[in-house]
Amino acid sequence: MSMKPGKPIAILLLVLVLLGCGAMQEEAGEGGQVMSGASEAEGIRQPVAPPLTLAELGRKYPETFIFHGPQNVRAVALTFDDAPDDTFTPMVLDALKEAGVQATFFVVGERVEKYPDVMRRIVQEGHVVGNHSYNHANLPTLSEAAFRSQITRTDELIRQYTGYIPSYIRPPYGNINEPQLQWIASQKRKVVNWNVDSLDWRNLPRDEVVANILAGVKPGAIILQHSGGGVGADLRGTAEAIPIVVSQLKEQGYRFETIPRLLGDF
Ligand SMILES: [Zn+2]
Repeated sequence: MSMKPGKPIAILLLVLVLLGCGAMQEEAGEGGQVMSGASEAEGIRQPVAPPLTLAELGRKYPETFIFHGPQNVRAVALTFDDAPDDTFTPMVLDALKEAGVQATFFVVGERVEKYPDVMRRIVQEGHVVGNHSYNHANLPTLSEAAFRSQITRTDELIRQYTGYIPSYIRPPYGNINEPQLQWIASQKRKVVNWNVDSLDWRNLPRDEVVANILAGVKPGAIILQHSGGGVGADLRGTAEAIPIVVSQLKEQGYRFETIPRLLGDF
């Protein structure tokens, strides 16, 4: 079989580009579910202009796509995804109350409908609420209309408890595409991902959650944890880690802020 000499190089370049994209997505993956190979397969059929990676989108839209707060202040934000539920979210709320820390909860709309009392408690105890979609969809796979419905449906549910449409959106798995980001930017809202992953969704014991957080923390850190899980999830380690993380970071001179306070948006 004969090949034109340019072809293997082109294929090699394409493979390198695709590998690069995969690494970015995996780095930003949440909940253990990185983007499937589907988009890469599409890329092979249409290798023209691959969509920007999350890191590239962050550089292109720094006002809208946030991974951390100001890095010149010793402050961090605890964030809890997939709330509310009736098991782990109450444990996390108890631990935060005991530690005297306010956090940011990214809630899933259908869970807000299912656990209204826990949602009410999150708000009553002074935590900030952000939008984490209606049913934890992987947003870039959706049509524009379906994407907007995921956000606006959950906005309306949150408004019923807080009195306002949330300024912050965290997409499931951290995944979002450029048109979706532009729509959010047009509303003067922000997409808030994270730069420290506790990896707590792996059902890790307390000490491993603590170690993952402390290893990654630096000024301005946005820390990802979860307070709700799917079937079989065990997030006790998440709740049990809170007092240790808070006392150790306070000893290091850090203070704990909600997302709007960390970003200076209030
Ligand atoms: Zn999530």
